[in-house]
Amino acid sequence: MKPLLHNLSASVRGDASTVSTVQALRRIWPQWGLRMDGLEAALKRKKGAGAKGCNWAASAEGDGLKMQRVHSAQVHAQTLKTFHGSLTTSDSVDVSLGSGPEAGAYLVAEEGAPPMNDRDLGIFRQTITRPHGLVLLTGPTGSGKSTTLYAALEDLLHSRGGNVITVEDPIEYEMPEVSQVEIDSADKVSFAKALRSILRHDPDVIMIGEIRDLETAEIAVKASLTGHLVFSTLHTNTAAGVVTRLADMGLKPFLIAATLRLAVAQRLVRRLCNQCRVPRALSEAEAAMLGRPQIAGRSVYEAGQCVYCAGRGYLGRIALIECFDCDESVAKMIGEGASEEMLVSNARERNRALLMDDAIGKMLAGVTTYQEVLEAVVVW
Ligand SMILES: [Zn+2]
Repeated sequence: MKPLLHNLSASVRGDASTVSTVQALRRIWPQWGLRMDGLEAALKRKKGAGAKGCNWAASAEGDGLKMQRVHSAQVHAQTLKTFHGSLTTSDSVDVSLGSGPEAGAYLVAEEGAPPMNDRDLGIFRQTITRPHGLVLLTGPTGSGKSTTLYAALEDLLHSRGGNVITVEDPIEYEMPEVSQVEIDSADKVSFAKALRSILRHDPDVIMIGEIRDLETAEIAVKASLTGHLVFSTLHTNTAAGVVTRLADMGLKPFLIAATLRLAVAQRLVRRLCNQCRVPRALSEAEAAMLGRPQIAGRSVYEAGQCVYCAGRGYLGRIALIECFDCDESVAKMIGEGASEEMLVSNARERNRALLMDDAIGKMLAGVTTYQEVLEAVVVW
C-alpha cells in the first residue's frame, strides 16, 4: 500500500509480478494515514516486522475423490515512513510445506516439470544424507533458496530423523519438528553467539539462515569438521562462486576443501501455463544472447491467455538450479587455491549442468520463456 501525493495505491503481487492495482483519491479515505501510522507504531513495538499465523482450508472434489488440505500462512508486514505517509508491504507465505514426501515433491515433480533433474536430485539427496559437511544454497534475495533449504530439511527429517537446530534471522517457516532459534539483532545476539551455544546441545544437523561474516563461516566450518551436517545460504551468483566468497571472507582454502560438500545456485522464473502457451522459433539474435548460437530455430514458447491461468499466461514459479558437488578431486583443487574459472571448467568436464544449461533446458521444454531466462540468468 503506497501513499502518493494525491492518491493511495494498493497493489497485489503474486509470483513476483503485479496482479492488480487499485488507486483511490487520498481525500476519500482520510483515516488511511492514521491507520498506517498506528500499524507502524505497533510493528515498532515488535521490532519492525509483524508475523501472524492464519489457516485456511482448500478442498477439491472430482471423480468421487475428495481431498482436503489445510494450509497455514504467515503474514509479515513492514512499514517505511515516506514523505507522503507510511509505505506498507505485507507478504504472506504458505508455511504448510508438509512433511517428508510432500516436501520432497517440491524438489522432484509437479506435473512433469521438476525443478531438479534426476542426476542433480540424486547428488542433492546423497549429500544431505551424509553425516557431516557443509551444504550451501546461493542466489540473490528472493531466489527461493530458503524454500529449497527448508524442503531439504523436511526431506532429511523424514528420511533419517535426528536432532535439527536452526539459527535464523528471521524465522521464515515454522517447522513443527525442529528447534528454531531466532536471532534478535536489537538484543545484539549474533549468529555466531547463538551458534556457539547451539553446538553445546550437540545437534546432528544445523541450519544457519545466512553466512554473513568470517566468524559465522568459521563456526559453520568447525561444526562440520566436528561431525555435524551444516546447511546455510550465501550471497553469490554462481555455485562455484561459493569457494571464492568464503576465501574472500578470510577462510583458509584447506578448510573450505575439507568441509564443502555441495553448493547449489538457484533462481526463480515464472512457469508457463501449459494450457495456453504459444510456440514460436527462437531467433538467431536470441540464441546468441544466451551464448548458444546452435539452438537458433528451436521451438520455444510464449505466454498466452486462458481461463486456467486467469489470463496471466503463467502459473506459479519454478527454480533454475546449478549443483556444484565436491568430490575428492574437486576438494584437492580447492585446497590448492583453484580459481572459480578452473572449478567451473572442471564442473563442465564432469558433465555438470550450469545455471544457463538448466535454464535453456527448461525453456526448450516449454516450462518457461526466453524473456524469463534472460532476466534470471543473463542480466546479473
Ligand atoms: Zn493459460
